[in-house]
Formats: sequence, C-alpha cells, structure tokens
Amino acid sequence: MSPPTSALEFLDFVNASPTPYHAVASAAALLDAAGFTLIKERDNWASTVKPGGKYYLTRNGSSVVAFAVGARWRPGNPIGMVGAHTDSPTLRVKPISKRTANGYLQVGVETYGGGIWHSWLDRDLSVAGRVLVREGQGEGNFVQKLVKVDKSVLRIPHLAIHLHRQTNFDPNKEDELLPIAGLAEAELNKAGGNENAEVQEGEFEPLRALPERHHPSFLTLVAEQAGVDVSQIIDFELVLYDTQKACLGGLNDEFIFSARLDNLNMTFCSIKGLISSVQSTALDNDNSIRLVACFDHEEIGSLSAHGADSNLLPAILRRLSVLPGCTTDSDRTVEELAASTAFEQTLSTSFLLSADMAHAVHPNYQAKYERNHTPAMNKGPVIKINANQRYATNSPGIVLIQEVARQTKVPLQLFVVKNDSPCGSTIGPMLSAKLGVRTLDMGNPQLSMHSIRETGGSRDVEYAVRLFEGFLSRFGDLEGRILID
Ligand SMILES: [Zn+2]
Repeated sequence: MSPPTSALEFLDFVNASPTPYHAVASAAALLDAAGFTLIKERDNWASTVKPGGKYYLTRNGSSVVAFAVGARWRPGNPIGMVGAHTDSPTLRVKPISKRTANGYLQVGVETYGGGIWHSWLDRDLSVAGRVLVREGQGEGNFVQKLVKVDKSVLRIPHLAIHLHRQTNFDPNKEDELLPIAGLAEAELNKAGGNENAEVQEGEFEPLRALPERHHPSFLTLVAEQAGVDVSQIIDFELVLYDTQKACLGGLNDEFIFSARLDNLNMTFCSIKGLISSVQSTALDNDNSIRLVACFDHEEIGSLSAHGADSNLLPAILRRLSVLPGCTTDSDRTVEELAASTAFEQTLSTSFLLSADMAHAVHPNYQAKYERNHTPAMNKGPVIKINANQRYATNSPGIVLIQEVARQTKVPLQLFVVKNDSPCGSTIGPMLSAKLGVRTLDMGNPQLSMHSIRETGGSRDVEYAVRLFEGFLSRFGDLEGRILID
C-alpha cells in the first residue's frame, strides 16, 4: 500500500521548514496557491475582508493566521479554530558567536526550548533562519531574507567512549553543546580571513561590527545564501538544524522519521485542513469563520508578542467578530447595534481545536504509560485529557469532535498520563483561559518528542487533515446542536 499523498506532502513541508520563519513561508506558499489573500494587521480591513473571502496574515514572520469567511456570516457568529505552533526545540547562534579552542573554530549557541540535547550530538548540522539586510539607495530600507544553508557545516562531536565511562550522558548545556565549524588554520590562510576587513573605517557603530562577532567564513556563507554582501547584513536570527531530510520509514512505510514533527505535523495538517475545507465545502452556506492560527514560541511558554499568550488571536477575533455580513440596508442598523456585543457573542459560540503532538506508546517503556491509554501509531489523532487542566479538553468538546470524526470516518484515541507521571502542556489551556472559548487538546501520536529526529505515523497525517477539514467546514452547523451554556 503506498503512503497517502498528504504524508509525502508533509515531508516536503518539513524539509523546507527548518525554522518558524520557513514554516510560515511554507504555509504561505500553500495558502497563496489556494487563492488566499495576504493581508496585514497594520491595515484597516474594512475594504478588503468580506464574507465569502479567504485571507491570511503573519506576525513577526514566525506566526501565521489564515481564515475563510462564510458567505452567510453575521457579527457575533461562531469561529471554528484550529491552533498549532511553528517552533521546535533548537540551538540558536549567539549574538557574539565567534569561539576558537585548540585550533578549532566553534560557534556559540544558546538552547531554545526543552530539547533532548544529547540527540544533537554527532549529527550533520547546518544553519537556517532570517537575516535582516539593508537594501536600496542612500540610507536604504531594512528587509528580511530567509536563509537555509544546505551544506553540513557544523557538528557537535561526542566524546569517545574510551574517555568517558559513564552510562548516562547528559551534556552540560553551556560547555558541551558547542559545535565545531572548521579549523582555525584554514580560516587564517584564507584571503579575506582578516577579521577586521569588513569594518568600515571612521564610521560610528553602536555595536561591535558583525565580522568581529562571528567567524568571517560563517558570515560569508550566510551572506551568500541571502544573496547579499556581508556589509549589508545588520542582524540575524539563525538556528541549527539537522541536514538529514525527513523520510518515510518502516517495512511498509508506516513511519515518518523527521525533525520537528512536534509541531510542524499539526501546523501542516491544520493549514491543509483549512485549504481542503474551502475546496470541498463551499463558503456559500456557511454562517461561521474557519480559522487556523499557528504560533511561534510555544516551546518556551508562549509569552511573547507573537506567541499564543499574546494579543494576536484576541485582536484578530475582535476584528473578525464585528465584520459586517452581506446585508441589505434595513439589516444594517440591526447589525450596527449588534456589533457592540459581537466580540463576546463570538467568543461564547466559537471553538478551538488545540492541535499539538501526542505521545504514542513506546514498546520499550510500556510502564511509563497509563495501561488503558496507550495511543498507537496510524490509529488516528489522540484526544488529550487531564483532570488538572494541563489540557483543556472537556465533554462538550469530546461530543463535538466525535461528531466530526464520525462524519469524516476518522478514528480517534484517548490519552491521560499516569498519576505519578509529569504531564506536558500546550497552547490549549492558555488560550481557553484567555478567551473563554471552548477548547479541546489533541494531536497525532509520535515517539521521541523533542529529539532532533522524531518518529510519527505516515497514515495519521491524512487522518488529521481530514478531521480538521471536517471540523472547519461543519462547525457552523454543529455549533448550534451542542446545548450547554
Ligand atoms: Zn508541541
């Protein structure tokens, strides 16, 4: 049996997306191809956003929100939402990264999120991210360029077992996660290796010049990828990534071996689900808005200007809740009066599927799982439940998702952690508390969460896309059938 095309499409998506900036660009490419219009938060939407239209916007280039407005939309109507996150644990290049030791060139890195850091050792690493460059004549403007160096240029070497007899290896995050990037000798022999060559004489610089802060060869490589001169680079945000591409695995292609399954798998499935929903079910008879929000910074707690704990989603919901419907003049006055409470009405009628990866049962560590809740790979999305509200799932949400799953023929699974086990959390509880919106936490099952290379199920991609498609296109109808206030 060949793997579903959505699994293969996911491989392309994740391979093109080593950073949140790239993930947002990959999502934007899918949305552009499906006819969504790019809008900006800084603009007034009165003349652009209309019932029957499809739109998306980005914040900081690392969070993306896309939505399609039902043609029968009225202020205060429900919004069906799927939320995911674009970031994953990684190592970020420090503001002053230049290091040398024992003849090696090294690049200083900072840990981001809670990675399984020993999994980053002995991998072929490279860098990717965004570079801010000065462009144009005179003083010029500042623009962002995405950079992804495909060549393996960095490596964090393990210490030989002969020199290290401990069985548990837990590297010190400051001293033992420093990648090597080359040999100092090669750098010195290179023309232009003079580290001060790029510093312009006589000009006042508020910060030490970039060629003083980073190895010149490293800067040259990044500038080449950005298609600019080193002197045009003002700043950058670069992270390390594994150059080994994601692939199908297992005897029957039942697995996906990949970096960043958490949470680019749910980012991909939610964007695809929204696109499929507008292709399969016209917006003509829909009274709701179908929305997907993929946030940066979940792995570090979501508290930032563009994380799930920011005003990003509340601000967009407020603007959408008062969006006028396609009404006659006589309806207009009624609508204008209604607009004063539209935001609160929309919040109380909306629903959020918080989509973040779940734990598949691990055959070598069965005792770590609650015996009745052991999600299997390729058996469909996992509903995450926690009495202490580390997950926001409750019964009305389970009723809703079961109805959608029944209609779309998607199997579902249930997960709780053991009482004596720690429990992760995600954007669901935070957004539901902030907005007062009904929420359900769910995600596809995977192994090795937060490792540099994780394992998921190839068939679960299709299941999640279908579930999100079904939820977004049917929520306007289903909402009125769940009678709990
Ligand atoms: Zn996650």
